[in-house]
Amino acid sequence: MQLSDKALKLVSDHLKDHQKRLTHILGVCEMAETLALRYNVDLDLAKSSALMHDYSKYDSYEEASKYLTKEELEECYKYPFMLHAYLSAYKYKELISDNKDSFNAIYNHVFGRPNMSILEKIIMISDYTEKNRTYPDCIEVRKILLDGDLDLAIYESLVRTIKHCEGEGKVAHPRQLEVLKEYEERIKNRWI
Ligand code: FE
Ligand code: FE
Repeated sequence: MQLSDKALKLVSDHLKDHQKRLTHILGVCEMAETLALRYNVDLDLAKSSALMHDYSKYDSYEEASKYLTKEELEECYKYPFMLHAYLSAYKYKELISDNKDSFNAIYNHVFGRPNMSILEKIIMISDYTEKNRTYPDCIEVRKILLDGDLDLAIYESLVRTIKHCEGEGKVAHPRQLEVLKEYEERIKNRWI
């Protein structure tokens, strides 16, 4: 059985009471498949990572405490949003495969990290641009992505996400700012 078949079964069962979330997950999987084909990334790894990226969206802090390190748990107190990404990555490792690239892609899907692999980029940007996202920001970034500019799409998604957070009075995560800086440099350096 392919990893992605196993992931689809597991996530459909685990999130059976969260149909909207499942629809989002299938959208992420579809986009990840398109991008994996375009950028020559292992299709089964891309699809299985996409399917598991939000697996633990509704899991408890108590469940997370069985998997996460003390440092990770402390970080999640401050940024509760990270909990589902970290725990989903550990669940992938436990239930699907110990592939490190997939683990990292799920672990970092919220804000990315400096020096992302192509698979990490694919999962992060598929999450932001999947077809069920209808915010104007997401539609604009989807267009940039499908026009073939992966790095610019990531840069634009970061700018918009940070602006959105600030609008809600939330502080940006330090890693978000680090990744933003990296992509700002990349985009700038293209023109010199
Ligand atoms: Fe997520
Ligand atoms: Fe998601």
